[in-house]
Amino acid sequence: MAKISINIATGTIQKEEIIVGIDLGTTNSLVAIIHPGTKLPIALTDVDGTTLVPSILHFGDNKQITVGNTARPFLETDPSNTIYSVKRLMGKSYKDVSTNNAFYSYKIIDDESANEKLVKIQIGSTFYSPTELSSLILKELKHRAEHVLKMNISKCVITVPAYFNDTQRQATRDAGKLAGLEVLRIINEPTAASLAYGIGVRSDETKNVVVYDLGGGTFDVSILKITDGIFDVLSTHGDTYLGGDDFDHCIVQHFMQQLGLHAEDLKLHTAMAQSIRLLAEDAKKQLTTQDIFETVFEDKSISISKIGFEKLIEPFVQKTIQACAQALKDSGLQKNEIDVVLMVGGSTRVPLVKQQVKNFFEKEINDTLNPDEVVALGAAIQADILAGNTSDVLLLDVTPLSLGIETMGGLMDVLIPRNTKIPSKAGRQYTTQKDGQSGIQIAVYQGERDLVKDNRKLAAFTLSGIPAMPAGLPKVDIQFILNADGILQVKATELRSGVAQTIDIQPQYGLTDEEVETRLLASLTHAKEDIQIRALVEAKTEAEQMIQLTQNFLNKHQQHISTEEQSATQEGIVALELAITEKDKNKIMLATEQLNHITSPFAERVMDIAVASALNGKAV
Ligand code: ADP
Ligand code: MG
Repeated sequence: MAKISINIATGTIQKEEIIVGIDLGTTNSLVAIIHPGTKLPIALTDVDGTTLVPSILHFGDNKQITVGNTARPFLETDPSNTIYSVKRLMGKSYKDVSTNNAFYSYKIIDDESANEKLVKIQIGSTFYSPTELSSLILKELKHRAEHVLKMNISKCVITVPAYFNDTQRQATRDAGKLAGLEVLRIINEPTAASLAYGIGVRSDETKNVVVYDLGGGTFDVSILKITDGIFDVLSTHGDTYLGGDDFDHCIVQHFMQQLGLHAEDLKLHTAMAQSIRLLAEDAKKQLTTQDIFETVFEDKSISISKIGFEKLIEPFVQKTIQACAQALKDSGLQKNEIDVVLMVGGSTRVPLVKQQVKNFFEKEINDTLNPDEVVALGAAIQADILAGNTSDVLLLDVTPLSLGIETMGGLMDVLIPRNTKIPSKAGRQYTTQKDGQSGIQIAVYQGERDLVKDNRKLAAFTLSGIPAMPAGLPKVDIQFILNADGILQVKATELRSGVAQTIDIQPQYGLTDEEVETRLLASLTHAKEDIQIRALVEAKTEAEQMIQLTQNFLNKHQQHISTEEQSATQEGIVALELAITEKDKNKIMLATEQLNHITSPFAERVMDIAVASALNGKAV
C-alpha cells in the first residue's frame, strides 16, 4: 500500500515516497533527491544552507550525540569523544588500522572475544562498531531529509568507493538498516558521479569517460564506456587510504617543524594536535586561490607557500597518476580514445591535482559540477531510476578483484574474474579426490594470484552429507552469485544426491591499507613465477592422482596382471614419486607419461575382461 503524505512546502499530496541518494563520505556526507517539480537532482541543506554534513560525531555527557558541523568544535575541545574518518574503519580489523593508529584521537580497540574481530571504538565505557557509528551519520541525513521534505523517508541508495570489498559493502548496508533505512542499492561513487554529469544519457553517442575522485580519505579512478544510456565500467583502480587527509598531514608536519615541535612532545592525542590539523586544512584550502598562507599559532608565526605545499604533496599526486595509468591499461583504451575526464571529490580543487590529471590524459578536464556534491546527486538519480521514474538508463558495474575457490594443491580457481560486470553469475563443477569422501571443503578467495595463500580468504565451509561414492564420481556444482551491490553468495550442490548448502560471505576483516593497491601490482610482478608454480602444482596433482589410481587398479585386478607387468608398474610408480620430489614440472610430466605407457596395455585388457564378466552377470 502506498503511503500518503502531504508536502507542506508545496501544499500537495504525495502518494509516493521519495527515495533519497546518500554519499556517506569519509570526510563529508550528504543527501540528495530529484526535485519533484524540476526533476533535477539537488542536495538537501540544513537551516543555514549548507549541504555537507561533516562525518564527525561527538559523544557528550549522558551520551548526548551531536553530528556534523556542531560536532566539529569538539575535535579540539574533546578529542577522545569525537569521532571522524569512521569510513576508513568500516569492515576493518584492528590489525588493519594499527599502523595508522596515531591518526585517530579516539580509542580504537579490537575485541578479541568477537569472532569477526572487527574494530570497535571505545567512548567512555561504551563500545561502538564502525557500522553503528556510520548509522548515526545516516540517521542525521535521514532526519534532514524528513525535515526538508516533510515526509517519512525509509528508502535510499548509498554510494561506496569502487574498492570497497564485500565486507565493507555489507557493513554499509547494515549501517543503513540500523538507521532505519532500506538500502535499495549500493553503488560505486565514480558511477554515481558520471550519472550526475549525465554524459551520454538519452543520446545515441558513445563516450569513454574517466572519473577521477580524490576526497578526504579515498582515491578512485574509473573508466566508463557510455553507450545509448548504458554505463559500462571498463576498469577501476585506486587507493582506499589516500586523500586530502594526507595533504593535511604534510602541512601539519611542516608547521610542527616551524614550531619546533616533535611527534613525541606533541603526543598526537592532544587538543593541540587537532588544532594544528584544522589549521593545516584551512591553509590547504586557502592555497587553492592564494600563493601563501601565514598565521600566528601560540605566539609563533607559521607559513606555507603554494610552491612549498605542492612540493610536499607531489608524491601523493604522482601515486594517483600511476593509478590512472593502470586503470587506462586495464580498460584497453588509448589516451586519445578518452572523451571526458571528470573531477570528483573536494581535493580535486587543488590546482596541482587538476594540472597533473590534465597533463596525464592530455586533455581538458571537466570540473563544472561542485566536486563535493556530484556523488550524492548521482545517487539521487540512481534512486529515481529505482523508483521507476526513469527507464532509459541501465547501470553496469564491475568487480575490482577476482573471486574464486581453492582447488587441489592450493591453487586459485577463478570463477568471476576481476573487472567482470555485475550483477554476475558463474558456476563450475568439481569432484572428490578420495573414495567415500562425505564432505568437501570449499574455501572462497579474492585476489589475482595463482596460489590462494597469496590471496584474501573470504570464507570457508564444508559441504557435508555426501553419500559414499568412489573418488571422482560426485559432481559438486559451485555457483557464485554476485549481486548488484557487489556482495557474493556461494552455493554448493552435490548433483547426484542433491545435498546443497548456500552461504553469504561471512564478515571478515578488510584488506590492510596498502594491500588493495599492492595486490594488483603483485599479480603483475609475480606473474611469471605464479605461472610456473601453477604448472608445477598441476603436474604434481595429476601425477599423484595417477599413482593413486594405478595402485587401486593393481590391488583390484591383481589376478589378471602378470608379475612382470606388476613389477614394471611398481618401478614406474617409484620413478614418478622420485620425479615429484625433484619439483621439476617436465620430469614429472615425463614420468607420468611413462607410467601411463606401462599400464595402458594391461589396463585395456583388464577392462575388456571386466566388461565381459559384467555381461556374464559376474561381479568384478
Ligand atoms: P570524502 O569523499 O572523502 O568525504 P570530499 O569529497 O568531501 O571527501 O572531500 C573532502 C576533502 O576535500 C577534504 O580533505 C577537504 O579538506 C578537501 N577540500 C575541500 N575543499 C578544498 C579546497 N578548496 N582545496 C583543497 N582541498 C579541499
Ligand atoms: Mg567522496
